[in-house]
Amino acid sequence: MGTRALSAEPRAARGGVFRDLTGRRFGRLTAVRPTGEKAADGCYYWLCRCACGEETVVSSSKLLQGKTVSCGCYGRERRAESRTYVGGTCLEIVRSPRTPKNNTSGVKGVSRSRGMWLAKISFARRQFFLGRYRDFEKAAAVHRRAEALRAEVLEQIDTLGDGAVAVLAQRLEELRRSV
Ligand SMILES: [Zn+2]
Repeated sequence: MGTRALSAEPRAARGGVFRDLTGRRFGRLTAVRPTGEKAADGCYYWLCRCACGEETVVSSSKLLQGKTVSCGCYGRERRAESRTYVGGTCLEIVRSPRTPKNNTSGVKGVSRSRGMWLAKISFARRQFFLGRYRDFEKAAAVHRRAEALRAEVLEQIDTLGDGAVAVLAQRLEELRRSV
């Protein structure tokens, strides 16, 4: 796959940064070939195939920095899921002030960190660390399970009261140990 690629690609003759990403995975995306176009930052655009079957064009910088991890399907799934469990009364607790600035996957809860995918979840304005994973889908899966645990705790918020944070912390710790 990689040997044929370089000769067929536009050379970085005009000073752009060119890195051969052919066949490399970035979250759900696999880099197929450069389009020949350059982004504003001088990096090349790559045609990518998403795990869902869609194709999309992403600049190499967005791929390498983990800013784009799917054709958009991942973000759509996450948003659809979050709507199903956030009840009106619990919204204030779940909603942290804003998506953290260091978020690099475009999805709250999973971000690029030291070459790996860091999963974390917030509850009552606190952040809970869920681990660092080499595989994006694994980090996303852990985050999904954490969200389910958080939803359970939210359902019992009237009885748990202030103890909810401790209960969630313990369940998240068990989740972390199980993966
Ligand atoms: Zn997709």
